[in-house]
Amino acid sequence: MKQRLAILGSTGSIGTSTLDVVSRHPERFEVFALTAATRVDLLFEQCVRWQPAIAVMQGAAQARELADRLAAHGLKTRVLSGADAIADVAGHESVDVVMAAIVGAAGLAPCLAAARTGKRLLLANKEALVVGGALFMDAVRAGGATLLPIDSEHSAVFQSLPEDASTWARRIDRIILTASGGPFRTRDPGTLAAVTPEEACAHPNFSMGRKISVDSATMMNKGLEVIEARWLFDVAPDQIEVVIHPQQIVHSMVQYRDASVVAQLGTPDMRVPIAYGLSWPERVESGAERLDFTRLASMSFEAPDARRFPCLPLAWAALQAPEGATTVLNAANEVAVAAFLERQLGFDRIPAVIEETLAAARFSKPGSLQDLLEIDAQARSLASTVMARRKGH
Ligand code: NAD
Ligand code: MG
Repeated sequence: MKQRLAILGSTGSIGTSTLDVVSRHPERFEVFALTAATRVDLLFEQCVRWQPAIAVMQGAAQARELADRLAAHGLKTRVLSGADAIADVAGHESVDVVMAAIVGAAGLAPCLAAARTGKRLLLANKEALVVGGALFMDAVRAGGATLLPIDSEHSAVFQSLPEDASTWARRIDRIILTASGGPFRTRDPGTLAAVTPEEACAHPNFSMGRKISVDSATMMNKGLEVIEARWLFDVAPDQIEVVIHPQQIVHSMVQYRDASVVAQLGTPDMRVPIAYGLSWPERVESGAERLDFTRLASMSFEAPDARRFPCLPLAWAALQAPEGATTVLNAANEVAVAAFLERQLGFDRIPAVIEETLAAARFSKPGSLQDLLEIDAQARSLASTVMARRKGH
């Protein structure tokens, strides 16, 4: 029996890499649904190629355009629109595997739908776990879902852990997440105010979406990943360590109680963690280039500089604050990054906006998706106010 896939965010960097891996295994997988926010042209092409039963565009106008073009092409794909339709697809009874590759908090509701309906849930959308935290993990347990990390660091940790998760707690000493350090690892911090979106999005090793590219440049990406690791592996915040490793060959490590360290290595290519998530516990061809050790000049490691990357300590602080703080952190970051990409906020101001939003936010312990969405919405408006006040000065 083929596994039926729903790929949420199929037009993005992870979405297209997922289809690349799937194309190598037509006997294993069948594409049941594809979803996207804005790129009608690309989703149309993907529908022609994959003939999914359902395609969802976030906007109604784009959905109509897609439906017309597919009909003119003689395709039977049902076209739906809106956020609810994306969540419905994630929980659809005909779907076995959900690739969660939407960017940002917008991915939380579909992730919860997939978790509650017991899917194999491949999580690239780290923000959903940062926003949803305990509630997300409860939904995974209650729904009997299989949550598999796609973020390369978390996939590396998962691959370095024994298969029996019930033994992790007594064996793990620390989880060591590696970070590339992004494009500004060695840049003079005094010049960060002048960074343009183009510079921030030019990541040294990966071609990624714009939001995660900026997060990598501020290292908020690693902060989000610390929070993600806390939930995925059920470890205390002080059991997680971050080390900069610019070559991105060691994708992350587990240090065990006996001081032994197990790491996962490979060329930096997201198709490796994607193929692992799709095939686990098997392994299948990913299309990635093999690592040639004789051509590895060197591998270096260094501590992250908290002054250069203030987003990292902010994420740690939010993780240690009462539940809801990471929801605020994520919302403020999304607002600040969007403003930076629209050239409305200096690159060096991103951490300040997040810090001030965290300091000003008031919330009580979230108990439902509704509560989380309210904290998220309030934090977004607070972050906008913080930015407007700054501008007024
Ligand atoms: P991207 O911007 O390239 O793609 C995002 C996808 O989500 C697109 O298909 C877009 O249409 C869709 N989308 C965006 N906003 C949406 C909304 N509000 N509602 C519905 N759909 C929406 O991003 P990406 O680089 O593919 O990253 C996706 C996720 O994977 C992010 O959470 C990112 O942090 C994570 N991730 C990415 C990489 C990478 O190498 N690109 C690595 C690790 C983790
Ligand atoms: Mg990562």
